[in-house]
Amino acid sequence: MTDYYELLGVSKQASRDEIKKAYKKLAKKYHPDLNKDNPDAAEKFKEINEAAAVLGDEQKRQQYDQMGHAGFQQSARAGGGAGPGFSGFDFSGFSGGFGDFDDIFEMFTGRGRRRTIRGEDLRYDMSLTLEEAAFGTEKNIKLRKHIPCEECDGKGGKDVQSCTTCSGRGVVMQAKRTPFGVFQTQTTCQQCSGAGQEIKDMCKSCDGEGVQFDTKELDVTIPAGVDTGTRVRVQGEGDAGPRGSQAGDLYLFISVEQHPIFKRQGDDIHLEAPINFATAVFGGEITVPTLDGEAVVKIPKGTQSHTIFRLKGKGAEVLNYRGRGDQYVQLVVETPEKLSKKQEKALKEYAELSDDEPHKSLFSKLKDHFK
Ligand SMILES: [Zn+2]
Ligand SMILES: [Zn+2]
Repeated sequence: MTDYYELLGVSKQASRDEIKKAYKKLAKKYHPDLNKDNPDAAEKFKEINEAAAVLGDEQKRQQYDQMGHAGFQQSARAGGGAGPGFSGFDFSGFSGGFGDFDDIFEMFTGRGRRRTIRGEDLRYDMSLTLEEAAFGTEKNIKLRKHIPCEECDGKGGKDVQSCTTCSGRGVVMQAKRTPFGVFQTQTTCQQCSGAGQEIKDMCKSCDGEGVQFDTKELDVTIPAGVDTGTRVRVQGEGDAGPRGSQAGDLYLFISVEQHPIFKRQGDDIHLEAPINFATAVFGGEITVPTLDGEAVVKIPKGTQSHTIFRLKGKGAEVLNYRGRGDQYVQLVVETPEKLSKKQEKALKEYAELSDDEPHKSLFSKLKDHFK
């Protein structure tokens, strides 16, 4: 089965809104009622719904990003709690009608199901060096965000009482009609905006919101093995929730800077190492840099340019896993541009002794080919 991002045709950095848009478009396209002649549409429709339910839910999306497609599905089957959350829906019998895919999206991804009041999730873009990304690091960051109001201690005021409309629950039940049937869903109580409380003596500093804007410093831990596109969740470090409710989460969006000599490919590191002609001919040892220290590459006699050697376990750490990728060293035989008198003399002698021109073999190969 296809990667959920590919399935919805969105990038790994897509916002929730972009995912929702892509979902709505595809859900309409593959809705089984409009595809009676295409028996594959129902399966496709189901996959699209699954993808949306995972990528539309911050928590599931993060698990998905970290585990990868296969790992996520495995954990979902094993009942690891990360599942797409569709087990309760029967996709074989549609009652027809489109309903509102907006509502369905919200319902599947959790927001419409239980709208408890909480602070917003925040995004922080973080740039890391290749070494930091490969081995993990600690960072001190500054964030502008909502923190609990200092004046009222985040309560929003004095004389706080339970809301009479929702009996302090913050939500009321409501029936919702969708193509999958009628669902009883909880919606936010209008009276108290979901807080479950009414304030008699409102705090003037925060207008009863219980939050204020401030800059906060924060130490965050970046796990080893992150790469561009990884999102690291820092629980409870988003915006403070209104009136003492739960804070949102902070998401660190990682991007890794270019390195002057190393190139990363997944968990592996690639390096191009120039060597001189004589070393390639006679063999020898060269010392090359790795992400952490140096390593020796043994070069056998008569090594051709562009030969690749593997340094096992010298790559980046694997995210959420004990182990490291490898480093690949590609040797490139360098042509000297400046020669001393002595070198020039020696090389000329060598040239006179070697009348064989390697490129001539191309013609004999071509001749064999047309035989
Ligand atoms: Zn206040
Ligand atoms: Zn209420």
